[in-house]
Amino acid sequence: MTQIDNHIQEQQSLSPTGKPRLRFAPSPTGFQHIGGFRTALFSWLHARHTGGQFILRIEDTDTARTIDGAVDDFIQGLNWLGLPYDEGPVIGGPYGPYYQVQRKALYQHYTNQLIASGHAYPCYCTPERLEQMRKEQEAKKLPPRYDHHCRYLTAEERAANEAAGLTWTVRFAMPLDGETVVHDQLHGDMVFKNSDLNDMVILKSDGLALYHLAHLVDDHLMGITHALRGEEWISSAPLHIQIYQALGWTPPLFYHLPSVLGKDKRKLSKRRNAPSWSDFQREGYLPEAVFNFIALLGWSYDDKTEFFTHEELIKAFSLERVGISGGIYDPDKLLWMNGVYIRKLPLDELVERTLPYLERPAEEGGLPDSVARPLDHDYTTQVLRLEQERMKTLGDTASRIAFFFLDELTYSPAALIEKGMDSARTREALTAAYNLLAGMETWDAELIEAPLRELAKTTGFKVGQLFGSVRSAVSGLTATPPLDDMLGVLGRKVSLQRIQKAIALLQE
Ligand code: GLU
Repeated sequence: MTQIDNHIQEQQSLSPTGKPRLRFAPSPTGFQHIGGFRTALFSWLHARHTGGQFILRIEDTDTARTIDGAVDDFIQGLNWLGLPYDEGPVIGGPYGPYYQVQRKALYQHYTNQLIASGHAYPCYCTPERLEQMRKEQEAKKLPPRYDHHCRYLTAEERAANEAAGLTWTVRFAMPLDGETVVHDQLHGDMVFKNSDLNDMVILKSDGLALYHLAHLVDDHLMGITHALRGEEWISSAPLHIQIYQALGWTPPLFYHLPSVLGKDKRKLSKRRNAPSWSDFQREGYLPEAVFNFIALLGWSYDDKTEFFTHEELIKAFSLERVGISGGIYDPDKLLWMNGVYIRKLPLDELVERTLPYLERPAEEGGLPDSVARPLDHDYTTQVLRLEQERMKTLGDTASRIAFFFLDELTYSPAALIEKGMDSARTREALTAAYNLLAGMETWDAELIEAPLRELAKTTGFKVGQLFGSVRSAVSGLTATPPLDDMLGVLGRKVSLQRIQKAIALLQE
């Protein structure tokens, strides 16, 4: 018995658990965007819902297009989203290896079997001949299709080609007539006329299998029960069904998931508008919010419930409620949802999770580099207590709260002047506010607002004018947390200094 026979026998003897086994099978030819992770998430949820397994398999047979770092990115992405896998790279598992390049001999084994049974054949056509054929078909407005040139070579002709050292690929011999029915759990039965189908290459000249054969051998040997993948694979599904039949295997249940669309109803693409997990992480989205959001891209529980914890989703998820209309990726909805999740965080957790975003370098979105790191934990907690209400991401906060941490604020005098005011009157208002605040016995946010309002009344300024100028003086901004809370956190010394400086600025 060969090593391959052994390998196959070993895996087939693994006792079936009777539980679903689902896989996420990305190709490291690019980074996965939100649509790819949606496939992973649905597969993971079904596995967890049923007590089955979730497997990560790397489909890396297109070695020329493999990108460095892509596999690490998949693994980090799954971990970040909270989708740990049960078998796969790094951790291994009983059905390994989980990299297709390491399974080359298995694909060759089955290719030989297909050739021996007459279901596949070596093709010696040169790239030039194929290109010529393609051009002619294009000129005649025919669909591009292999012309069966090598399909009917005799054994002698094949031997001669081999003896001449011609390179070859292997093509699957599709039946020439009849129909192939693809059963899909979402789309129902899809019927294809075999005469429309192509003799596709299943093994390349370098001896590595193409997706069509490789994924199928793996799904079979790995005991995959449910195959979730993008709907772009529907057109190849009849070929896959034919290969299953030729090998005498039962295909898994297919779920061809509709593409995730942009708000413009166009398919999301890496190049156009599709973010990946690392974009969400960098911008300060919470993984649990992204998880919740992705789960709703094409799946719904009851068409109205929007918020689910991981546990609730595991319980509620069912593949039957995955739709075929494709989810819409609406970034505004994600932002809103993320804000809701942020507001639900306990303050100490919010601080822990926001600190790294504030402490990163300014050019990456952190606080100005002049602010000393690490930040004071208690002070940051006081600031975030005020800010939590307004936060939408953990990453968009630094610019709005920098004034709490800076020694010096820079703004133009014009920023201090409210509607209906001028420089002299603003100075007057700020001076009155300064005097009032400087005379306060205790510095307490709760005791600040009422006297300031009273001051507006007695001095004849509108509350908005007085508060607005003080707000600008201490923050340099027009939108901030409530003035009294802000003054409370800034403290007496800093608040008074800043108002004084603003008065001086108006005098210049
Ligand atoms: N490697 C394929 C892809 O990245 C996976 C398709 C499948 O899940 O079968 O599109």
